Amino acid sequence: MKHSVYDENGRRVAVRMCVACRERREKSALFRVVKEKGKSALLDEAGNLPGRGAYVCKNRSCIERAAKIRALERGIKGEIPKEIYEVLLKVEE
Ligand SMILES: [Zn+2]
Repeated sequence: MKHSVYDENGRRVAVRMCVACRERREKSALFRVVKEKGKSALLDEAGNLPGRGAYVCKNRSCIERAAKIRALERGIKGEIPKEIYEVLLKVEE
């Protein structure tokens, strides 16, 4: 497994692991769900909200797998409202 990703200029790119396939990808290729203590989970579209985050690839198979095994819930240690899954599942394949 690669632990670092470099762009075409040889610069290190921030990578995070998908909770479903456990592949490391650039942050831009992943959705981040975040939960701050005492608040409900949010889809973090800008990628910079505070709290405990979990990442899933922007593809339907990873999102469905994550939902099935409740990997995002484990990642954030909290519930994820079904509205968040509805938004995630609108992603194009
Ligand atoms: Zn994935």
